[in-house]
Amino acid sequence: MCGIFGAVLPASFEANGAEAGAVAALGLFALQHRGQESAGLAVSDGEQLMLYKDLGLISSVLDERRLPSLRGRLAIAHCRYSTTGSTVWENAQPTFRLGPRRAIAVGHNGNLVNTRELLGRLRGGRARLPASTDTELLTALLADEPAADTVDALLRVLPTVRGAYSLVVLDERRVIGVRDPFGFRPLVLGRLPAGAFGANAPGLWTDDGVGADGWCLSSETAGLDIVGAEYVRDVQPGEMVILEEGREPRSVQFAEAHPALCVFELIYFARPDSYMEGRNLYEARRRMGMELAREHPAEADLVMPVPDTGAPAAAGFSEASRLPYREGLEQIVSLLRRAGAEAVHVRISAPPIYHPCFYGIDTQVETELIAAAKSLDEIRDFIGADSLAYLSIKGVLAALDLPYERFCFACFDGRYPEPVPYDAASRKFILEEAPVEVHG
Ligand code: SF4
Repeated sequence: MCGIFGAVLPASFEANGAEAGAVAALGLFALQHRGQESAGLAVSDGEQLMLYKDLGLISSVLDERRLPSLRGRLAIAHCRYSTTGSTVWENAQPTFRLGPRRAIAVGHNGNLVNTRELLGRLRGGRARLPASTDTELLTALLADEPAADTVDALLRVLPTVRGAYSLVVLDERRVIGVRDPFGFRPLVLGRLPAGAFGANAPGLWTDDGVGADGWCLSSETAGLDIVGAEYVRDVQPGEMVILEEGREPRSVQFAEAHPALCVFELIYFARPDSYMEGRNLYEARRRMGMELAREHPAEADLVMPVPDTGAPAAAGFSEASRLPYREGLEQIVSLLRRAGAEAVHVRISAPPIYHPCFYGIDTQVETELIAAAKSLDEIRDFIGADSLAYLSIKGVLAALDLPYERFCFACFDGRYPEPVPYDAASRKFILEEAPVEVHG
């Protein structure tokens, strides 16, 4: 999992002290939950790109000592999460590459599933890649592309790429947002209105009230909110949105859309104050809790979220079952018993995970997934609960009030929207001799 953000500001914003790099860094702060391993920022002043990235949290990587030197009206930012191995500087993003026709920086959320095939297309092969990520490979392919224009380069390279990719791409003059044809990972477009931040208006940026708008791209709407941008719309599956200074965004549909947004984003990963598919995620999770109470009621004295991220669902469960809701004990079952609980009923506001994810969520291989390896009763005994139940896929859809066809449910039901090559089962190191790691 990763968080990505992009910003293009007109000159009037800059004149008033707002830099695209600072806006992108601030937007990224709201996406910290999507990746805590590394952070980075790439900016363009219209002529050249500058990049700073490092391992660590956004607040320590993109602090006030770094930001003033990263000047320009165009910026992209990225935070990365990868659970095993290769926590090395080279694998931090954005990636950067200087090709014969362009300098390019890329921030990527998702996993590609045909990395081996793509590596076969790279002149010079693995030896040319300084980092071991699929994003580094994609960046090299884009930089090598002889097309004069970055949009044309994307139009030539993207049809060869399979898997999950929401991208922010930076060249000297543009920030381009891209979403794969399935739209596995979210990406939204926002507008920083020119007149909304006048000298007397409350807001983060000042402007003289005239001139062009600023534009943002963010993994989640929470990133737009923190910088004061208005949500405009989702970048559509199979679409690229081109942001240039002083122009309205341009849209290019590069592939037919087959929407399959990761339902796990709505169940768990994304921030509860974000909106996806028109749904506020706190509200969606509360409704999942209500569905869970209907599907699997429990006789109990109180409802408690474990861990904190279960709070909206626990609130919904409490509401639907008319049981009091208590916070405070983020504990495992045995500790609850030691604290005096007579019975502990565990309810999970998601279906059991039976299958690995190849599209950017770091779930384990099938043999390591507890639901794939043990029966429900065995899991209940393993965790020491008196009862255990999961929300059904039908229950998730009832809570969202949206059709199954809009989402990827593959880790729950094994129906992968994009076929996954067999060797992708070893996800982390697909290419044993020339490892190109995949990550979110
Ligand atoms: Fe999301 Fe699961 Fe699909 Fe991966 S397999 S994209 S985690 S729903």
